[in-house]
Order: sequence, then structure tokens, then C-alpha cells
Amino acid sequence: MHKGLNGGRIPVSGPWITAREVDYVRDAVASAWYAQANVYHDRFERAFAAYTGAAHAVALPSCTAAIHLSLLALGVGPGDEVVVPDVTWIASAAPVSYVGATPVFADIEADTWCLSAAAFEACVSPRTRAVIPVDLYGGMPDLAAISEIARAHGVAVIEDAAEALGSSRDGRRAGSFGTTGVFSFHGSKTLTTGEGGMLITGDDAIHARVLRLRDHGRPPGDRHFLNAEIAWKYKMSAMQAALGLAQLERIDELIEKKRLIFDWYRQRLADVPQIRLNAEPAGMCNSYWMVTVILDAAVGLGKEAVMSHLLENMIDSRPFFHPLSSLPAYSDLPQAAAARARNRVSYELSPYGVNLPSGLLLEEADVDRVCAVLRSLLGTGAR
Ligand SMILES: *Cc1c(COP(=O)(O)O)cnc(C)c1O
Repeated sequence: MHKGLNGGRIPVSGPWITAREVDYVRDAVASAWYAQANVYHDRFERAFAAYTGAAHAVALPSCTAAIHLSLLALGVGPGDEVVVPDVTWIASAAPVSYVGATPVFADIEADTWCLSAAAFEACVSPRTRAVIPVDLYGGMPDLAAISEIARAHGVAVIEDAAEALGSSRDGRRAGSFGTTGVFSFHGSKTLTTGEGGMLITGDDAIHARVLRLRDHGRPPGDRHFLNAEIAWKYKMSAMQAALGLAQLERIDELIEKKRLIFDWYRQRLADVPQIRLNAEPAGMCNSYWMVTVILDAAVGLGKEAVMSHLLENMIDSRPFFHPLSSLPAYSDLPQAAAARARNRVSYELSPYGVNLPSGLLLEEADVDRVCAVLRSLLGTGAR
């Protein structure tokens, strides 16, 4: 990692930008106006749909907007419940509140750290309208089982693949399992547009609805400005689309680097008995957005202590997501109290998980340093 980039600290995440990205953005800012205004959006959306195997892709300002639009297009609203895994970024759940529905936090699996199909089914009630499985840190839940349960109960699936572009399970790309799949291009994510997101769907009616809802109720190409309904404004700029297109043309290289980084860590930490790393069960290809360690509780070190120790050694890290049901943001939600009592795996793992530096400019020597610090903290010494 180039020392000047992060004040000498090894950053926890960050993009890999090349001349291609700079060229495309320069071209967009110079030429993507007038009749050319949508050229980069069209190219980015078409290429993204092809990559994920979806019929439609819609470029948006964020993944949060993509989840919001998914819920709106599915007609989820007040009185409805939406099942979300307890361990995820709050963006997976916040849009449920935007539409006036109630999030129900279900427990995760001990190996993939993603929504447990059994826990999801146990949370289904007559009010459940949707489930939002999350592909955490590049891993994926058993989406075949989750989809089957959802179908049996008439529940829609919105797959939050914000952290898993390029992962796959049972031969299907992350994001392609639900009625909609959603992605984030935030600066920390594997593919970035600075800020940005994408919604994919194979459903023509949902696609048409999303296009209206994201542009103040106007159908695409509208020239009359007679808005049929009050809606939202969720659009990406051409400069962002150009950046995204350039990144997408390099997606294999980006994911290869993520997998290489994980392998560097795996080689250096595989013999440490007190930790576990991201899982890649048979049939899954994990794009390892964030290399993550979970320490055995018996070590007696919480995630905050590990993070402080890493920071003292000029290494950035992040805490494994706190269960949403534990956040002050949800302290008034009766459903959160029930989740706190119920979600054993979420509460067992979360206090001991840390995301390690996984930025795309990371070098093997950086991983050497991180692992040496971690090993000495755990008393496992040099290999
Ligand atoms: C990053 C992320 C989001 C939100 O993406 P934005 O583009 O910042 O809105 C949603 N869900 C998960 C799991 C994420 O990691």
C-alpha cells in the first residue's frame, strides 16, 4: 500500500482506479450532454445486466435508494412486516421504515454469517410481505432455501448484494435470486462510482414501476411534464455511470484481487486455532469484500480491543456489524426487543468480529504486517 495514501495507516477499504476510469469520466464530463446525456447510463446498465444475468438494471444514486424503490414497487407499506437479518449495515433495514412498514430481525447462520433460512421462516407472520437476505462481506446465505420458503408464504425477496458483486452460489450470481437484487457502489465497495447503486430485476412490471418511481412519476422519455403521482428523484449522474462502466470492464481483475487478498490472510492465519475467517461453502464463490476474523469468545478479547490494538499499530479496521436489534436507532421498536432475546448466533458472534484491511491497493507486505500484529495479540507468535 502506498504510504502517502492514508497517512501511513493501512486502510480498511478503498478502490482501485486506473487510467481507464479517469479517461471515461473525462469523456463523460466533456461529452455526456444533449443527445448524449444517457449514453453512459445505457452502457453501464446493459453491461451490468449482462454480468449479473438480469433482464433489467437501473442505475441509482445509492443501494439505499434501490432498496427503497424495491419496497415501493412491491407495494410494501404501513402494517406490513419485512424480515431482515439482524447482522447487516442499517441501510438494509432503514428503507423498511421509510415506507412505514416494520422490520423483523432474524438470526444469522454461524458459518456464512448471513440470514438463516430456518430463522427467516420462524419470523414469517400473516403480515410478512418481503424478506431482504443480505450477502454479508461477499458471502451468501442459502438463497435457494430462502426463496422456497418465501414462495410458499407469498413473500417477495429483495436480495441485498451490496457487498457481494461477483459472488455466486449454485451457479447463480449474487443479486439474481430475488424479485429485485440491489448493489452499492459506495467508495468502500468492490466496484465504486463514489456513491451509487443498481437495482436489477427480471420482472418487466417492477422495472417499469421503478423507472417511474425514481423520476417524480414520469415514464421514461416523458416530454409532457404532467406528473401522474408524487414520487421520488433517484438518478445517477453520467460521470458516475462512466466511472462504473470502466470499473465493470475490470470486474474480473477486481474480484481476482479480492480473492488474492483473502488467500494472503488465509495462508497466514489458517493455523491460528482461536479465529475463524469468512466461509466459502461448497457451491459458493465468495468475492470477499471484507476479510473478517471472528475470535473465540474464550480468548477474552472483544472487537473494540482488537481494533484499538490494530490502530496502535497503524492499521485501520472495522467492527463486525452490531446486531440491528441492539442499536439505539431501534431501541423503541418492540420487534427489536424480541430479536434481542431470540437471535443467539448474532449476539454470540458480533462482539468478537473484526473486518481487516481489504482495500484493493493492499499489498502482500501489508497483510504480513496485519497478521503479525494479530498473531502477537493472540499469543500465537510468528509462524
Ligand atoms: C453499503 C451497503 C448498503 C448501502 O449502500 P449505499 O450505496 O451506501 O446506500 C446496503 N446494504 C449493505 C449490506 C451494504 O453493505
